[in-house]
Amino acid sequence: MLRFLITIVTLFTGVLFTAAQAADVKNLRVWASPDKTRAVLDLSASVEYKLFTLSNPERLVVDIEASDVVGELDLAGQEKYQGLVSNVRHAKRSNQDLRVVFDLAENTRPQSFLLTPAGDYGHRLVVDLFPANSTKPTVRTVKDVQPEPEREVVIAVDAGHGGEDPGALGANGTKEKKVTLAIAKKVKAAIDKEPGMRAVLIRDGDYYVPNRQRFEKARKARADLFVTVHADAFTKRSVRGSSVYILSRRGASSEAAKRLAENGNRSDLIGGVSLDDKDVVLASVLLNLSQSATLQESHHVAEEVLSALQKVGKTHKNYVESANFAMLKSPDVPSLLVETAFISNPEEEKRLNDPKYQRKLAAAITSGIRSHFHQRPPPGTWLAANRKQGQHIVARGDTLSGIASRYSVPVARIKEVNRLNNDVIRIGAVLVIPTG
Ligand SMILES: [Zn+2]
Repeated sequence: MLRFLITIVTLFTGVLFTAAQAADVKNLRVWASPDKTRAVLDLSASVEYKLFTLSNPERLVVDIEASDVVGELDLAGQEKYQGLVSNVRHAKRSNQDLRVVFDLAENTRPQSFLLTPAGDYGHRLVVDLFPANSTKPTVRTVKDVQPEPEREVVIAVDAGHGGEDPGALGANGTKEKKVTLAIAKKVKAAIDKEPGMRAVLIRDGDYYVPNRQRFEKARKARADLFVTVHADAFTKRSVRGSSVYILSRRGASSEAAKRLAENGNRSDLIGGVSLDDKDVVLASVLLNLSQSATLQESHHVAEEVLSALQKVGKTHKNYVESANFAMLKSPDVPSLLVETAFISNPEEEKRLNDPKYQRKLAAAITSGIRSHFHQRPPPGTWLAANRKQGQHIVARGDTLSGIASRYSVPVARIKEVNRLNNDVIRIGAVLVIPTG
């Protein structure tokens, strides 16, 4: 009797399951790496699908049962990463099924699989395209069904000035370019220790990089934030303290106007969205939108950095300042400028040369950046995926085993997720608390 009941229940849920199969295709993401191009369709539910290739011209056809497109299935904004995919089209077939056609740049060998929800991602259909003449395995391996790795948040750390541009000079001859590099390197080291974050240095030696190239380098690194490190100077030697700047709104809009006016240089302004084929009005709207979102993020992270700096020492002003600095004019990468201290103040000049103080400044800048990205992690990042699993800010007296038992998570798991090599935890550090 019991077995009979179970069969009935199974049959019934089976029917329900089939009825609930209709899925929405919400989005297409592509990502080209040196050995393959990955296309990911974000789905509202798991699907049944078929996949085959056609030649002359090369195409990959994906037929998805009982599905609709509700989002954008195109390459807009991802042109840089489209790799072997030259175009994407879709159409409904027999009023029910969805056909997605990938036009391909060359003959490829596809591999495909479905992924179940993980982190910030829902159901996904993943298609990996390998060049047909490469030697990659055609057989689906266990490794292929691993969830996609979430990317790290990338911070571009820029040491102000350099080379023939010494920056400001201290009362005792310290060159700004030297202390900015020392601090920037320490910021990079501190950020690289943060789970889910990685830093790149815009310059790593004593040479000059033109301002616009600085954020072009940041964008090439796909940075989520550009932070440029400086030391202030003023004629009055008593003036002291750190300051944090973002681009002023006026500076932002005049820069937008200027860049749009530059003939033939309108593409690639908004994270790879080409503006060339759009008229100037639309282009300017897009650019302003992008810039105002960028400014909002800049302002948030700047406030976090300022409040972290206030714990290290005096700040020059107790609010984030805005100015029309050339190095902050990136339209799509949130940017801030940190004046670490006044090099013209003899006492601060001395401290700026002290590796211990440099480390303190670097730790404060890092903690502000960490706090920002823990609160507002960009989608698709490891931080975004793990934030939902809860966090714990280490307080005085906390121990790893105490935290582990509070959240009923093994110590080893907390250490693994936070990349801790030992049981030492810093007060104020934000630990990601994994679930399950
Ligand atoms: Zn400077």
